[in-house]
Amino acid sequence: MLFLENIKKDYVTGNETVEALKGVTLGFRDCEFVSVLGPSGCGKTTLLNIIGGLDGYTEGDLRIGGVSTKDYRDRDWDNYRNHSVGFVFQSYNLIPHQSVLANVELALTLSGVPRAERRRRAREALEKVGLGDQLRKRPNQLSGGQMQRVAIARAIVNDPEILLADEPTGALDTETSVQVMELLKEISRDRLVVMVTHNPQLAERYSTRIIRLLDGRVTGDSAPLSAGEEEACRAASVPQKEKTEKKRARMSAFTAFSLSLNNLLTKKARTILVAFAGSIGIIGIALILSLSSGATDFIGRVQKDTLSSYPISVQRQGVDYSELLRSMTGSSGDGEETFEEGKIYSDDRLASMMNAMVSGVRENDLASFKKFLTENQTELDGYVSAVAYRYATPLRLYAADTENGVLQVNPATLMSDLGIVPRMMTGGSFSGGGSYDVFNELLDNPGLLASQYDVLAGRMPEKKEDLVLIVDEHNRVSDYILYTLGVKDPAEAREILDAVSKGESLSPAPVALSYDEILALSFRLLPATALYEKDAVSGVWQDRSEDTAYLKGKIDSEGLTLRVVGILRPSDASVATSASGGVGFLPSLTDYLVRLVADSDPVRAQKEDPDTDIFSGLPFPSGSRTMTMAEVAAYIAALPPEQAAAEQAKLAALKASGLNDEAAAAAYAKSLSTVSSSTYDRNMQKLGLADPDDPSAILLYPKDFDSKDAIAAMIDRYNAEKKEEEKITYTDYVGIMMSSVTVIINAISYILIAFVAVSLVVSSIMIGIITYISVLERTKEIGVLRAVGASKRDVSRVFNAETFIIGLASGSLGIGITLLLLVPINAVIKHFTDIGGLAALPLSGAVVLIVISVVLTLIAGLFPARLAAKKDPVIALRSE
Ligand code: ADP
Ligand code: MG
Repeated sequence: MLFLENIKKDYVTGNETVEALKGVTLGFRDCEFVSVLGPSGCGKTTLLNIIGGLDGYTEGDLRIGGVSTKDYRDRDWDNYRNHSVGFVFQSYNLIPHQSVLANVELALTLSGVPRAERRRRAREALEKVGLGDQLRKRPNQLSGGQMQRVAIARAIVNDPEILLADEPTGALDTETSVQVMELLKEISRDRLVVMVTHNPQLAERYSTRIIRLLDGRVTGDSAPLSAGEEEACRAASVPQKEKTEKKRARMSAFTAFSLSLNNLLTKKARTILVAFAGSIGIIGIALILSLSSGATDFIGRVQKDTLSSYPISVQRQGVDYSELLRSMTGSSGDGEETFEEGKIYSDDRLASMMNAMVSGVRENDLASFKKFLTENQTELDGYVSAVAYRYATPLRLYAADTENGVLQVNPATLMSDLGIVPRMMTGGSFSGGGSYDVFNELLDNPGLLASQYDVLAGRMPEKKEDLVLIVDEHNRVSDYILYTLGVKDPAEAREILDAVSKGESLSPAPVALSYDEILALSFRLLPATALYEKDAVSGVWQDRSEDTAYLKGKIDSEGLTLRVVGILRPSDASVATSASGGVGFLPSLTDYLVRLVADSDPVRAQKEDPDTDIFSGLPFPSGSRTMTMAEVAAYIAALPPEQAAAEQAKLAALKASGLNDEAAAAAYAKSLSTVSSSTYDRNMQKLGLADPDDPSAILLYPKDFDSKDAIAAMIDRYNAEKKEEEKITYTDYVGIMMSSVTVIINAISYILIAFVAVSLVVSSIMIGIITYISVLERTKEIGVLRAVGASKRDVSRVFNAETFIIGLASGSLGIGITLLLLVPINAVIKHFTDIGGLAALPLSGAVVLIVISVVLTLIAGLFPARLAAKKDPVIALRSE
């Protein structure tokens, strides 16, 4: 059934060609025990390898079952080896990290025999060679004879038609040699056994046929095939190809994994070291990732928090401070570049400074800008955490308790009452805007507030009547606030002032208030319009703000009650807070107030009669209507007597100059205009009227620095469509303070990314090298695998499985070590910066890193795995 037809084999090494076989023509019977004898180097092993399909022939043909193998592909050879041939080598070639049983099972595993069946057959084969009790041992725990018997069991477990043995007794003593020979003889009863040996006695005694080889040629054959036998041998009997086609040898992924895992487990220490070496890159990346993601989070938080205290602000009276700053600090630029030594030049910048100061102040049309913002609300929402609109309506608040007199708590009057600052500087035109005020409008973003503050007691504000007291990290509130709110007696402040001015120092006893005391505080809102009362007789609106009894009544009857519902403290996580200290109220209170004022009686009265000053009953001097003589008379009559006489004389003089009543009244009114500067707008301002569509200031709170730039771009876009005088100028405090921060942040990110890239490259190179070393180490195993029928693909699978396992182990180990390292790292960071838990590895990052580790390791191992697969099995087996 096997027929070699003029087989020649040349080995080419460098420019030398060795003719190992010089034309061998031989037929083998299906059932005989052939011994091949010959001196060393005559080509015995070569002949055996060619018969076993382990090595290719250079010329001639090998007919298997009558079929020429000239057109055999790799797969056909793999099948042939797996199903039809069993190899026994002089040096046993067992896989050291597999048990005896697993070694024998190997060929069956490759042919896809189910596990239980595999076990049974492997056990049977081992029992047949007399090793039924050594299944669990490792090859290195056996004697030479035992190992060779394991090799024989492995060779026959698949019940091959051909058993090839290359000097199987070469390394054994006489006694064990005899045992092995007995075994082979037994096996040769129902198959072809071809054995190479140096020992003519053994050959004579056991084999049925002896072939002598010399220098690549057959020189003797004790039982050559007869002409008939030879004819039968050449002709096709059972088509071998067809027979093996049915069950193709193929290694399952599970086998590949268990082979690799076993190999890795036998070298535990080494595997752990390898995984650790591979994990160093991953640890580096994971640490950088943890730090950078922590830093990015932190920077984001800083940005959000900082920007929530320093918004982009657009005032009705816009001043471009940055322009001013530039003109003051920057170089004038266009000066002479060349200068002479020995002379001092003047740097002319006064003009540009003046220019910036004068032209930098401009009236912003906030009504149309607000409209623009509303139209682009969705875009804006992407950039801002909050938008605040300020209105010219002062928030007039009084202590709810009027028992001991009226106490105005906002606009704050403490400093002016003490005579420290003039009254006109406190309170004033902007609600919540005066720097002495303790009431501040909260940001219109409950989420941001919740992240910046902890609720110490009570709750977050929910409706317009809700106020919250904001304390500092140590639960403190400035005494200024307590005096202003009337929690501490303002009279005490006066005593302190007196003591200070006398050069003494007076420190009042510290007070500690309970949460309940704070939560019991309440205030009353009374708009400016409530301070005026229409005089029943003259119909003129009179200012009653100095009339305590009137105020008391108004507060008690009309004042909207506002209560402190919560005490807030900046949370640990917040870096800066949008409002620090004082009492916070919701923007809805401002909206309510603006509407309340617009609906009030005095505002309505003034709106209905826009030409007449409701506070004097006279026409506005600049208005279109002039006074009638009757009005002039009424006006003079209402004046105090001594003043009235003078005015009367003035009017009489006008009349005497020949004017009629109408002209005289007009002229008189004009003369008044020089003293009275009342206008419709001023009256409305006095009443605190604000148009909801026309705020006095717009504050944009960007989410981060990028958003800030985007908002600036939005404003630029708005400006681009407007005429020069309609352009909006804004103040960007943060921009002025830290324009370079984003640049630094970006630079740091780039450096980190560079680090990450380097670590990735280093770790994958390392893993590639490790896999390559593993290939070198396991060369022999590769040869064995190929000899029992593993394909090139299977071999690369084994190595890919190994790199996969290493990659997975490296990745997991790296993540584990990183998590451990983060503990001390965070402790150090906390120690130096007071930022707790800065570095944190995001879960997604951990998963991605493990995947990256596996993928990179696989890629790094691909080349060595291919190298392993490409290894010539013959050379692989020859290697030590
Ligand atoms: P034997 O088994 O009879 O001792 P071999 O078949 O191993 O002899 O070798 C026959 C000849 O071929 C020897 O001269 C040997 O040096 C040469 N040879 C065998 N394998 C190779 C190889 N892979 N490359 C080059 N020469 C080889
Ligand atoms: Mg040899």
